[in-house]
Amino acid sequence: MPPVIDPERCTGCGTCVEICSEDVFYGSVSGEIPTVAYPRECSHFSGCVSVCPAQAITLRIPLPMLLVYKPAAEDLENPV
Ligand code: SF4
Repeated sequence: MPPVIDPERCTGCGTCVEICSEDVFYGSVSGEIPTVAYPRECSHFSGCVSVCPAQAITLRIPLPMLLVYKPAAEDLENPV
């Protein structure tokens, strides 16, 4: 499942769009809340979650992936 962006927190800085190595946010416009255009492209590496200065992104990890998913150290230190 894709990242979910909280529109109340997002400032439209675009940092998540820049760091995403896939096309998840393809077509997003600078200064606006990013569009999750290709959610199935998400590789769940949590980069967008880690870099978001507004803590506006929640990553939904698919159930089968939860068996092997390991949160990044900084996510454990600063849970949302
Ligand atoms: S990094 Fe966070 S605040 Fe910036 S555009 Fe992405 S979701 Fe919005």
